[in-house]
Amino acid sequence: MMNSGGLVSEGKIPVPLKSISVDVQVQGHVVTVTSTLQYVNEEERHLEALFVFPLPADAAVCHFSAKIGEQEIVAEVQERQSARDQYDDAVSSGQQAFLLEESAESSDVFRLCVGCLSPGQNAAITIIYVTELAVQADHALRFCLPAVLNPRYTPAGSGGGIVSEISSVCGSVPYSLTLSVHVSSPNPISKLESNCTLDPLVFLNSEHTHATVNLSPGHMFDKDVELFLYYQNTHQPTAIVEAGVATDQPGSLMGDPVVMISLYPEFPEEVMSSLGSQGEFVFVVDRSGSMDDMMHHGKGAQSRIEGAKDTLLLLLKSLPMGCYFNIYGFGSHFESLFPKSVLYNQDTMDEALKRVKKMQADMVGTEILQPLKHIYNQPCYPDHPRQLFIFTDGEVFNTKEVLDLVKSHTHSHRCFSFGIGEGASTTLITGMAREGSGHAQFITGSDRMQPKVMQSLKLALQPAVVNISVKWTVQDGITVETLSQPINVIFHGQRTLIYAHLKGESSGSSEGTVTVTYSLKDQPVTNQLHFCLKPTEDTGLAVHRLAARALIQSLEQQERAGGAGMEDIKSRMVELSVQAGVSCVHTAFIAINKDSRQTVKGPLLQRRVPTADVSGVYCYQGPYQASLDNDLLLKSSLSGMFSSRRSGSFARCKSYVNAKFVGACAGIIGFKKSLKSNKGFPVQEQKSGIPQKVTALFSSRYETSAVLSGQEISQGKQEVDVELQKDSLLQLVSLQKASGCWDLTPTLAHVFGKTEDELTNQKPAEVNQSVWATLLALIWLYGCKIKDQVEWQFVAMKAASWIRSQKVCEIEVPERLIMSYDALRTFGTAQRCRQVPVRQATEQEILLAHSEEYLEAVKQTPKMTEEQLMEFSKKYNDVYFHQNIYHCAQLAVGATLQLVDSVMKREVRNGMALVRPPGHHSQRSAANGFCVFNNVAIAALYAQKNYSVNRILIVDWDVHHGQGVQYCFEEDPSVLYFSWHRYEHQTFWPNLPESDYTSIGKGKGSGFNINLPWNKVGMTNSDYLSAFFHVLLPVAYEFDPELVLVCAGFDSAIGDPEGEMCATPEIFAHLTQLLMPLAAGKMCVVLEGGYNLKSLTQSVCQTVQTLLGDPAPRLSEHSAPCVSALDSIANVRTAHSPYWSCFKHLDTNSDRSIKRRKLEEKNGGAKDAKPLLETETKKKMEDIVWPEPLPRSSPALRTVVAPPPGVEVALPVGCQVLGEISKSASDVAQKIRDKLFQDASDQKMLQPLGNIISVLDQMKSKEVCNGCVLVPDLNVSVQCSVEHALTSLAKRVLIVFIGDGKLPVDTTDGTALLVQICSEEAEEEKSVNHVSLCLRIGESFTAGFMQIVLGLLLPLAYEFNPYLVLGVVEEGKWKTLLPPVWGHLISLLQGLAQGRTLALLQGYDKDLVEVTAAALSGAPAPALGALGPPKPEDFQAMEKQRQRLQKRWGLLRCTVSES
Ligand SMILES: [Zn+2]
Repeated sequence: MMNSGGLVSEGKIPVPLKSISVDVQVQGHVVTVTSTLQYVNEEERHLEALFVFPLPADAAVCHFSAKIGEQEIVAEVQERQSARDQYDDAVSSGQQAFLLEESAESSDVFRLCVGCLSPGQNAAITIIYVTELAVQADHALRFCLPAVLNPRYTPAGSGGGIVSEISSVCGSVPYSLTLSVHVSSPNPISKLESNCTLDPLVFLNSEHTHATVNLSPGHMFDKDVELFLYYQNTHQPTAIVEAGVATDQPGSLMGDPVVMISLYPEFPEEVMSSLGSQGEFVFVVDRSGSMDDMMHHGKGAQSRIEGAKDTLLLLLKSLPMGCYFNIYGFGSHFESLFPKSVLYNQDTMDEALKRVKKMQADMVGTEILQPLKHIYNQPCYPDHPRQLFIFTDGEVFNTKEVLDLVKSHTHSHRCFSFGIGEGASTTLITGMAREGSGHAQFITGSDRMQPKVMQSLKLALQPAVVNISVKWTVQDGITVETLSQPINVIFHGQRTLIYAHLKGESSGSSEGTVTVTYSLKDQPVTNQLHFCLKPTEDTGLAVHRLAARALIQSLEQQERAGGAGMEDIKSRMVELSVQAGVSCVHTAFIAINKDSRQTVKGPLLQRRVPTADVSGVYCYQGPYQASLDNDLLLKSSLSGMFSSRRSGSFARCKSYVNAKFVGACAGIIGFKKSLKSNKGFPVQEQKSGIPQKVTALFSSRYETSAVLSGQEISQGKQEVDVELQKDSLLQLVSLQKASGCWDLTPTLAHVFGKTEDELTNQKPAEVNQSVWATLLALIWLYGCKIKDQVEWQFVAMKAASWIRSQKVCEIEVPERLIMSYDALRTFGTAQRCRQVPVRQATEQEILLAHSEEYLEAVKQTPKMTEEQLMEFSKKYNDVYFHQNIYHCAQLAVGATLQLVDSVMKREVRNGMALVRPPGHHSQRSAANGFCVFNNVAIAALYAQKNYSVNRILIVDWDVHHGQGVQYCFEEDPSVLYFSWHRYEHQTFWPNLPESDYTSIGKGKGSGFNINLPWNKVGMTNSDYLSAFFHVLLPVAYEFDPELVLVCAGFDSAIGDPEGEMCATPEIFAHLTQLLMPLAAGKMCVVLEGGYNLKSLTQSVCQTVQTLLGDPAPRLSEHSAPCVSALDSIANVRTAHSPYWSCFKHLDTNSDRSIKRRKLEEKNGGAKDAKPLLETETKKKMEDIVWPEPLPRSSPALRTVVAPPPGVEVALPVGCQVLGEISKSASDVAQKIRDKLFQDASDQKMLQPLGNIISVLDQMKSKEVCNGCVLVPDLNVSVQCSVEHALTSLAKRVLIVFIGDGKLPVDTTDGTALLVQICSEEAEEEKSVNHVSLCLRIGESFTAGFMQIVLGLLLPLAYEFNPYLVLGVVEEGKWKTLLPPVWGHLISLLQGLAQGRTLALLQGYDKDLVEVTAAALSGAPAPALGALGPPKPEDFQAMEKQRQRLQKRWGLLRCTVSES
């Protein structure tokens, strides 16, 4: 038919293609694209138009039709040769015919033939294809409409096929493009971005789940159109089951349902954070002539080869020490830097960089096959998995051959590919990554290559996943056939797609399960997804077509692998292609207009329609977007905090060095300014009022705020070109040594805009040059280049670990804040918080807690010399001053006060201030233990003064005693101070007698100072929880604070060298959760200590996530507190029993325990606690490992409420009415009813049961966190809930029942724990899983109720550790008395079962429903008011139960004698 030597369209000959209009329908993660091409023959002769054009590589073309005049012809899929023959016959006999076929060489190139257009005739061709959207590293979904097709490089002598027919023009093409996009998704759409100009996004509904947008007119075909779509909660594993075509035969692919599974595997955090140091990294760089083209056509564009060189620089610097590497360049031939990969060290890195610098796009063609063969022929290094990084503009013709080669080595390497510039072959780039178990990236437009390459490097450093298997579990009668190619790669958080054919009869309601298992670092991992086999409506046949395409691809693979049965494979492909209506390489779409026979004289004239080629197209797309960051944030962590350490056995930190060291860094940053203003530095600098603002974080949907004390330096208008800015980053990176450090050189000084002398003069004498230079480089990166962090993250990681290896700082290090903040950002937590601006505290404010003399003295420190500072520091205990400390301490106080303001003004619900220096040791006239000003004490006094707060609770969970806070408030009954601390009978710092439990406050303040000394190290979660249940919470509720302040030191967590405790970071999620119901939620958490960076950052994240309302993680199983902890708890309770009615009725046998302790001391018991030798301790602490906290996710919807029919309820934010009950839920409800209550024929019961099942199922699928269902009958509802929960989502269910009835719950097998609070004496319980307490209405009802909740229910519940909490209330119970306490009960139980609570309320009580909904949705419950004493008989009933149960439930114990 067509000969290859066609005409290339030139200006004079009219091009028959006039316009392309594209309609894009996005449904979730699947997109259907309809392209309509308008052809007009403007010539006087009959014409054949040929158009070779690109489509996405994985697209399934499923429709092709032509419309001529009013007549529409829909094409069929036929075997390719037969289609071609028919086309030729039709065209030569004067009929109109249309043919669409895929290139055999590259599945992203198609050819369209429009045969026999008579003069003046119009034809509209419509092509429809479906494809999946690709998930990007930033969770965007990428859609690309390829508008550009680059000529593919064809070596001499090879065939070339359709690919060689590509004809393209320089400059714009003579046809236009319109594009409209319609998105619909179950998740709200948060934004849509594009590399092209779009009209504004229009939302079509208030839920933002439907939206539409158009491409602005005037697209020049100079670039592919890329769309980046962002959903809220994008990455949930999903299964879409699509029904087959009713008319097609059952058993065939199209006749049966097909399922599309999207999985997002999650690796444990420890795997993610310990990026390996092993590997062989081979970089393969395209050096063909086309690499000289520009990356894009905007101002400041770089050539592709230059971009690749910059990227190589960054990659080489980012490699871990101890790995192997090599670099290949290829064109018509290839060369490698080293004969084989070499060990990465300073010499080889230098050598490589030298060669990279000289690299040019001088190797002509694009022959990629040979270098790949050479690489694969090299033996691999044992224990160094091979990682290929291939950079190419992808213009090769033999794509399939290349892919086969990559595939045949899939088990010996991973391949990461980068398509550079517009028009890079998607088949080649995505194919290499797919076949090579890696990841593909496209770098187009004005994208910088570096961030994308770094994202891939991050993946490459993830351990390889091996032994991947997929298993299906479905009901009998159904078989599952996987259609997609076997999965050979899994990355953390990256989507894995599976298509499968469901054969056989499904009952329509049953569930299926797909289980993907693999091993990761020799550990077996299982990911599972349950799905309903019932087909979802509304997907058309898109999933079938994608599945067919997946199967075709996998058959193609088999076919190319060769061997027997080739004909079979081919005929299967043709059959499948025809049946599914999806094209493949052996078929084509053919349409013939049978009514169009006309006489055509002479040979038909061919017209090739050009596609755009980017080379040489220069057009301006509006002003170049320069984003210059004038707002440089410098974290205070780097700016001037200093450190010191305790004297005594733990003082092992070279603190003075450290102090000056970090302090001096602040000087440097300030000093940049002083150069500008021609003033000296840094002392005068501070005085000259350099605008050093402080910056704070963050924002929140849930109105939490966290404050980061920091130093923001306004750089003023900088007339620096963006390119130059980028250059300075690369310049800094290029100076880094392979080990990760920098040398102090003039060039480095130049990058910072200084002279070498200026840097050297600032350097403390004790610090060596390289450490100093490396620290400055880190400060500069964090301070000035934070936006490009993704590019320098590995460079900085290397630098930080190098510094650590130099042992300059031991504990009070700047990383404490940097890493905490970084972790908050990494998990997206920081972004959810509201940012609160930070300021310096005023002198007036500091004077609230400190003396004038002391403030005056500290104010002098910025002017002091080193010797004077040293002298000054000697006046205090364990604190050392630096010139910048005054400034930083002002910021720490100011940040704390800003947080108090925000919380008290109700601008935020709660918040955390990340500040240094800490404060709780600082005293009225003395600095102490790292602390200069007492941040939290000042905050309390400030809140009293400015907001007339009457009662403030300060909880100090730092492992040290905050004696400064104690001194400040010990005579003040309006501030209740609670501190637990490592004490070891006064042998631990600060070694004060007044840190013991006997210091209860003085005068009016007696009873308002609670010290809980830990006399042993190694305290666990159980010990901490016991302290909360049996000491802090009962007193706090009785005290009824109006504001809660937390001295949040995390040196009380596991791994901390100071604390040596064993409580895990997750415990802080729970401690925070337990405090949140107090003071109507007004809570300010302020950072104090915490010196193990890992446990500190984990603990900070746990705390902030809880403040934001995320469900707390499950704690591992609990046991009774240890004897030493019980002893302390009992002593505190006894010491405070005269002051707090919750302790009033205590059995005073704790005298005994005091006696015992005395005895123990006498016998030298305290010696046990003597610290180990310094080095031993350190060694011991370094060896401690603990499991990484699991990622915490909060379901999209927090709370659902199912009111009785016809009742409208007002719901708080985060709470919705339960939607329609699904068929499967109502089936389950029916089944359970039939099974349990055969005689209950009442249809009305089915609705509430369906609601219950529905809520539980949504909890299971993590769509909702908790729910409230109103029910007419408790027995039936509870039984149904427990039955369904135990079979589907919970191993153990806790039932809290308010009522007098008898619930049908079996408490004997350990799966259920029933706690009943009733008003009438109940019968004796027989099981340790059944507790009932009688509580009578009266004045002390609230106190009695809370006493039971705190002292009995919470310990029981935490130790039982349920997977579901059922809160059940009998109708009419206690009327108005119940709602307030019920709200607190529900809030306090939120820490359990990852927040999964189902409240079942009998009847309808408006107040109770509202209170329940509010508490479930995380709103703070209103304060209960100060609690009086409980009734003695209530107290005794509770004690009786405690006695009965404490053998089984150790968390109930609160005296030693009981254990
Ligand atoms: Zn501490």
